[in-house]
Amino acid sequence: MTATPISSKLPRVGTTIFTVMSRLANECGAINLSQGFPDFDPPARLVDLVAMHMRSGHNQYAPMAGWPALCEAIAGKVRDLHGRAVSATEEVTVTSGGTEALFCAIQAVVRPGDEVILLEPAYDSYEPAVELAGGFAVRVPLQSPSFSVDWDRVAAAITSRTRLLIVNSPHNPSGAVWSRDDIDALERILARTGAFVLSDEVYEHMVFDGRAHASVLGRDSLAARSFVVSSFGKTYHATGWKVGYCVAPAALSAEFRKVHQFVQFAVATPIQAGIADYLVECPAHHLELPAFYQDKRDHFCRLLAQTPLRFEPSAGTYFQLADFSAVSDLSDVDFAQWLTRQVGVAAIPVSVFSTHASTARVVRFCFAKNESTLEAAGRRLRRLGR
Ligand code: PMP
Ligand code: GLN
Repeated sequence: MTATPISSKLPRVGTTIFTVMSRLANECGAINLSQGFPDFDPPARLVDLVAMHMRSGHNQYAPMAGWPALCEAIAGKVRDLHGRAVSATEEVTVTSGGTEALFCAIQAVVRPGDEVILLEPAYDSYEPAVELAGGFAVRVPLQSPSFSVDWDRVAAAITSRTRLLIVNSPHNPSGAVWSRDDIDALERILARTGAFVLSDEVYEHMVFDGRAHASVLGRDSLAARSFVVSSFGKTYHATGWKVGYCVAPAALSAEFRKVHQFVQFAVATPIQAGIADYLVECPAHHLELPAFYQDKRDHFCRLLAQTPLRFEPSAGTYFQLADFSAVSDLSDVDFAQWLTRQVGVAAIPVSVFSTHASTARVVRFCFAKNESTLEAAGRRLRRLGR
């Protein structure tokens, strides 16, 4: 007997745009400014510490919730940055990247029939996780062209079935960064609900022009209902290590860990141990990250200014949006393909993160690159003006 043909649990999901565009960039020999990853190395000292732990026998399973010294170091970071005391043993869980943390938080709280509010454009992993949990995504568009939140619309989307709100600042793909007013508004609209918050803060250390990252961890009433996700991949230029974490109150972390223990169980031991040492030894690294990436943003924007692409400098993340309507009438999906094949620079079309139709002609570039890479991309993009 042959197996029954599979009926997809995610019929509307294909292969992620990041895989699609990176593959195309590689096939075409294009400069890959699509998928977000640095083309430079993690700090040498961090690599040495990880290698040292590998050589000194830290190669078996780590504790399920995380390497204790790393959980302590994360709790210390949360205390230093947000003035919040969190328990290293009960409120911090180390995960396989931010991606796993997002998935586990969603599976931990979303039940069949629950509604989950997403602000779109929304990072692509949120909705499939909601669907696998049997929930429904309720998508509220961000405002154009600033990508700021229309809090009246969010408030209007909340119903008795709203179980979770997923928020993301600094925001991928737009680079928009929340202010304190946004945190106030979130606090206000949730005050009379029992909804949880999943706050995707993986770009917490990439905020520019003197802005401060507005974390839900800075507010008691929000921290009490939130899963806060971060990613060492972003912070340490090591996206391939896939190490992140989730901070949540003990009762939420307990449910989170029930999922995590069967999705991942534990995260690569020597990497956790190396990061733990590095966090204590070199806290300046994440404190210096805003200036480091602001320089890269400024450099990339100077190059973009020499092309017919239009842009507002990004407020955060390592992404820069660019409007190509002066260059082409193609859709953003077609333009990103054309740009990769014909101009030799790969970008991400922004419409793939939304379900609401939009006529915006905007693509996203990643500027987490060496100067020479940005310069080479700039030279190619200047051809658009000819
Ligand atoms: N959330 C957002 C908004 C992201 O851009 C990313 C980056 N890929 C992630 C989560 C996942 O992070 P990680 O690579 O650590 O899994
Ligand atoms: N978050 C990265 C981006 O936005 C990609 C992550 C991935 O490829 N899964 O480009």
